Amino acid sequence: MKEQLLCGVDLGGTKLSVGLVRLDGSLVDKVVAYDHTKNNEAGLCAQIRDMVHQLLTRRRIEERALLRGVGIGFAGHLRFDEGVVITTSNFPLLKMKNFPIRRMVQSHFQVPVIVDNDANAQSYAEFLFGAGAGYDTMIFLTVSTGIGAGLVLNRRIYRGMTGTAGEFGHTIVNPHSDIRCGCGNYGCLMSHASGLALPQVVRKKLEQGEKSELTIDDTTRINGEFIKAGLDAGDPLCRSVVLEYADYIGIGIYNLFQIFNPPVIVLGGGLMSWGPLYFDRIKEKFYSLAGDMLYDPIEIALAKTGRDAGLIGAASLLLEGQ
Ligand SMILES: [Zn+2]
Repeated sequence: MKEQLLCGVDLGGTKLSVGLVRLDGSLVDKVVAYDHTKNNEAGLCAQIRDMVHQLLTRRRIEERALLRGVGIGFAGHLRFDEGVVITTSNFPLLKMKNFPIRRMVQSHFQVPVIVDNDANAQSYAEFLFGAGAGYDTMIFLTVSTGIGAGLVLNRRIYRGMTGTAGEFGHTIVNPHSDIRCGCGNYGCLMSHASGLALPQVVRKKLEQGEKSELTIDDTTRINGEFIKAGLDAGDPLCRSVVLEYADYIGIGIYNLFQIFNPPVIVLGGGLMSWGPLYFDRIKEKFYSLAGDMLYDPIEIALAKTGRDAGLIGAASLLLEGQ
């Protein structure tokens, strides 16, 4: 008998990936599309069906016999129990408002379909197969274009009343901030430590007279890679951004520590590629704040699931509670 597989769908604003994943979290095969947001909502669900079937055909797998289910990680707010999208800002062409995504995708499959937000999906992969393996409780923080957390408490994802628990990017870390978040508030962690906020933060530093050796003609194009390249080239402004960003994430994980007292906090997402200067400073800030309130060792670890974390995470949702 062939082994059982999981199907993972990573549904983001720029990329739709579908993959087959083994029960140990390793990837068998995947297909990727970048044209999915040209569809309407129903068309998008049909595209997911077609991509899953493409993989099953390619691998000669029968859906009912081998697939334990289809897990979808979605970049937006969901009502988890109903599998309904509340809202998302990641799909400019699609409204998705109150869209019953789980029911629509389920209508194309015989095996069960589950939908959760992408940060929860990634965190569960990290919990089962990555830096959280071996623990019963793990807090995951993804620092990328946006910032989100996944709260795995006693082996289950904690989702809250609606399904939106863990929107940690919108916790306020600086009430005197003049940087406005997409949510409308000022001083969210997202407005001080996310990829999205980089143009504003760099502009502010330039206005304050901080010097850069780089030619910065268009601050709107500044992203994580730009800062990484500047950091590697020894640019003082990029270094200053990285250290300031690290301090805010250090404050963030300190807050998480005080709420959950977890044995491990895992950091993932694109900005973690800024490297040791960034990661070490995050830990330094955390330990300086925690001081003598830390009674047992805590592990602050980097995520291990890598490039396909979204896919593997979506698939791993099918293993929750097993
Ligand atoms: Zn916010």
